[in-house]
Amino acid sequence: MARGPKLTKQQQRHVDRRRRVGRTPSGDDLLAGVVVAHHGHDLLIEDDARELHRGRARRTVGRLATGDRIRWCHDDHGHVIVEKREERSNLLVRPDAYGKKKLMAANIDQVIIVTAPLPWMNPEVVERTLVAVLALPARPLILLNKADLLGETPPGELEEIEAALALWQRLGFAVIRTSVKTGEGMDELKSELAGRSSLMIGLSGVGKTSLTRVITPLAGDAAVGEISAFNREGMHTTRTSTLYRFADMPGGLIDAPGLRDFPIDQVPEAVLDDAFPEIAEAARYCRFNDCRHRNEPGCAVRAGVEEGTILARRLRQYQELLKTD
Ligand code: GDP
Ligand code: ZN
Repeated sequence: MARGPKLTKQQQRHVDRRRRVGRTPSGDDLLAGVVVAHHGHDLLIEDDARELHRGRARRTVGRLATGDRIRWCHDDHGHVIVEKREERSNLLVRPDAYGKKKLMAANIDQVIIVTAPLPWMNPEVVERTLVAVLALPARPLILLNKADLLGETPPGELEEIEAALALWQRLGFAVIRTSVKTGEGMDELKSELAGRSSLMIGLSGVGKTSLTRVITPLAGDAAVGEISAFNREGMHTTRTSTLYRFADMPGGLIDAPGLRDFPIDQVPEAVLDDAFPEIAEAARYCRFNDCRHRNEPGCAVRAGVEEGTILARRLRQYQELLKTD
């Protein structure tokens, strides 16, 4: 028997509520979910059955990003409460206009580096982005859009584009060609998207919006409607990223407004070696273990450049990135 004075009904309710608040639901009570959009403290989460719910997170959860996998439950009023966040595989952070760190997206499986013959393709820009993607870490997918325009591309530019695509493919990176205009490569793109959470990056005018328009009908219309209604309400705050899930296959596309470039700070040497595998391979035969491939005698990498098996621009880029550490 409980001791102490008998409580009024109101007091008892208060005690019950305190007990509930103090209680941390066990893992079994919690449901799985993913943050698909957020503004301020308001979250839009998707559960395992792909239902969308509006909710809020406990203070102890910390800042959440689009793509965060979370655990949630209903409180006594039927509100969705996020209780905890699962560990992230990666987190893309960018400073906002005020220099404050903005969480762009979490758990990005793949970054699609979109290029096109028009306005132009710069292999060095693609390769720098590739390094940043590998450093995230995420899978890079190099996509050449506007393949229908290759026939009208000046021969010199065409040669440069074809050589770069062939090299990246030879080095083991995923490369696809698409055309929004003719539909070329769309099936291949779809299979590269399946089961992955992807994000697109590329110069303005390469066709990211057009590609997204082809891909997002894959997301259910109802979900898109609910998500855009949610985002409209958040327009007074700065717009944050949205994760659009595909209706007919697992995976999704992250729309990250304002994400223009993919900066590189510190690149671990292992990441550089993944991005420049031909240089890493040749470096095994340099006379000195710590060879920087500049003026050292017995440098197998410089020998490779002279023999034409390694591109001089790739070595230059590698050395520039090596300097930042
Ligand atoms: P974004 O700035 O990367 O989002 O590029 P947009 O999607 O706005 O596309 C820029 C321009 O390129 C638009 O005029 C599109 O119609 C055009 N465009 C996009 N994809 C293709 C394509 O595959 N072939 C051709 N010829 N034009 C395209
Ligand atoms: Zn060397």
